[in-house]
Amino acid sequence: MKRVVIVGGGTGGTILANNLSGKLRKEIERGQVEIIVLEGSESHIYQPGNIDIAFRGAEPEAFRRPPTKLLRRGVKLLQQPAKHIDLENRAVTFDEKKLNYDYLVVATGSVAAPEAVPGLAEASLIFHRSQEEAMRVWEALSAFKRGRIVILTALPHKCPPSPVEAVFLTDELMRKRGVRQDVEVIYATPYTRAYPAHGIADVVEPEMEKREITVQTLFNIDRVDHQVRRIYSLEGEELAYDLLIAIPPHRGADVVVKSEIGVDEGWIPTDKHTLNIKGHDDAYAIGDATNIPISKSGVVAHLEAVTAAEAIASQIHGISNTYLYNGRINCPLELGGHRAVFVSGTYTRQPEGQKPSLTKYLMKRIFNRLYWTMLSGSLEPIFKMYLGPTYEVK
Ligand SMILES: Cc1cc2nc3c(=O)[nH]c(=O)nc-3n(C[C@H](O)[C@H](O)[C@H](O)COP(=O)(O)OP(=O)(O)OC[C@H]3O[C@@H](n4cnc5c(N)ncnc54)[C@H](O)[C@@H]3O)c2cc1C
Repeated sequence: MKRVVIVGGGTGGTILANNLSGKLRKEIERGQVEIIVLEGSESHIYQPGNIDIAFRGAEPEAFRRPPTKLLRRGVKLLQQPAKHIDLENRAVTFDEKKLNYDYLVVATGSVAAPEAVPGLAEASLIFHRSQEEAMRVWEALSAFKRGRIVILTALPHKCPPSPVEAVFLTDELMRKRGVRQDVEVIYATPYTRAYPAHGIADVVEPEMEKREITVQTLFNIDRVDHQVRRIYSLEGEELAYDLLIAIPPHRGADVVVKSEIGVDEGWIPTDKHTLNIKGHDDAYAIGDATNIPISKSGVVAHLEAVTAAEAIASQIHGISNTYLYNGRINCPLELGGHRAVFVSGTYTRQPEGQKPSLTKYLMKRIFNRLYWTMLSGSLEPIFKMYLGPTYEVK
């Protein structure tokens, strides 16, 4: 019997498990294959929903479901956090038990870590971690009447569009509340422009200028002193704030750090095409957990999951194909006023500028609803048609 162990049942892990169970249905029924997902949390959170919670006051319940409801028949769920991953001995430890595997996929995501910057955790509100914290952002913004709001981003972090969305939606909310004339909105970013991809920066920057949003570029946070409400940068600049909303630097999951299978802040060294953990052809890493230089986003986790599922299923079927992910991304970026663009590209094609549109905004809203169905894998033919090829077969 072959055993596939997936550590992490978030976006990537769930899509991979469901996709693989479809491809290996007969083998699972005959008892020749077992797919096990280890998930440490009781709720699967649809993280883009944190934008709606923090900047629109949406109710959090719509954006979370128990993992038991999201996995197809044929996938076994262990609601346990993995404690240790041993790539040399092909084993994952949980709750003092050891689980051997034939194939491993690590899909443990990334964690916002404000504590990595002195003073940041005490000084800032964040919407990149829990739903509760996102609700606190909404409470603070709803009560804010006068002064300076700084939205600050640090690297690395998941979802490159989200800081810019936070800026536009903060501006929009202050206008709706009729206090914008008394509120300064500042966006502080380590990049040289308001968005790292120049085609998208060309769209975002004039929109920010039109709305009198100040952009402070090349601002790499060093520390925050909440007593005097000031942020200090590595470049020697300082920025005063009344309300600080931060996208803190992120790190890999604890289990990656503790198992010593990560580099830097716990990112797994991963081949950007085959998605193998480097040096291990029976182990894969997908989604935010990898060190691949690509946006940490749900769509990447999704497309990498589909690619890794093909690779594992073909090996189990005894087919010697290699599946090579092409780095496709396709993330919505909202600019307020019910308009959005899509940040799309591949490893070899940079995202291009485009006109913000209502249609793209509506596509983003519709996707919020489709997410739960998408996890099941049943919408895969539509995604294939819309996104085009996402891997090459060799
Ligand atoms: C505010 C916000 C807005 C976003 N908007 C978008 C967007 O519009 N489009 C987009 O594509 N992406 C967006 N993203 C990013 C997207 O949500 C993530 O990139 C995506 O969820 C990554 O998927 P993943 O499977 O790698 O990790 P996750 O979905 O984070 O899943 C990781 C899972 O691993 C589990 N885990 C961790 N450690 C262990 C362990 N030891 N044992 C067992 N389980 C473990 C966790 O509990 C979690 O369920 C957004 C993110 C945020 C915060």
